[in-house]
Amino acid sequence: MTKKPLLIFDFDGVIINGMNEYWTSSRQACINILGQKINKNLPQQLPKAFKYLRPWVQYGWEMVLIAAELTRSDGYLISEGFKKFSENYYQQCIEALDTWNWEPSKLQEELDNVRREHINNDLKNWLNSHKPFPGIPHRINQLHKQGNDIAVLTTKGAEFTHKLLTSFNINFDLLYGHESGSKIDVLIQLSENRTIKGFVEDRRVTLEKVKNTSKLISTPCFLASWGYLKPNDSQNLPLGISLLEPKTFARPLANWN
Ligand SMILES: [Mg+2]
Repeated sequence: MTKKPLLIFDFDGVIINGMNEYWTSSRQACINILGQKINKNLPQQLPKAFKYLRPWVQYGWEMVLIAAELTRSDGYLISEGFKKFSENYYQQCIEALDTWNWEPSKLQEELDNVRREHINNDLKNWLNSHKPFPGIPHRINQLHKQGNDIAVLTTKGAEFTHKLLTSFNINFDLLYGHESGSKIDVLIQLSENRTIKGFVEDRRVTLEKVKNTSKLISTPCFLASWGYLKPNDSQNLPLGISLLEPKTFARPLANWN
């Protein structure tokens, strides 16, 4: 039997806007690690620095680290500001991890625990802290109905992604969370026996990595214009990566670029 063509979607910043939840959960994970005394140093409202830095984030644990850095008055983030921090984001994260003497896995576990607890205590409230981007679930379901298999490939935990996809009535066939390994490895595996018609992602660096992976060179890559983009992400895209705007996404798949 011939398998259906496959469309692959990132989750956060492509399907779902969960900015407030990212902050609330990361803030709570940080308090759980550092103790209640830190509570007063972390605002309930989404900080500008956290929102600004979100497009740089690859894994959830980085958000907990950013929250912790917002409490450290002599740290680089506070003393130099979030724009400076973003210029050397990865290196600053490594140095911050070193200062706190933390392993990423410890932060990721705590973040996942906070989410689990919130879900157990008030599932409805947790689901409501996420909003699908307007029209996206409907369009994905259309593409599914038109004979495409839908895969969701995310660095979020699969259990949380599954709950949200189901809650927003989004039809999908395959789901890969951070437990499945790197996005590149999952894409390579999928490309071995499927025809990938498109990979929609809002992290340009990830798409560039796909294009620089010899086994994935023919994967059609799309940068979601509505997602968490850095200031110049949509400019001068390399060959093989197309900017996908909502009006283009509404067109037939063959006309996306
Ligand atoms: Mg994303």
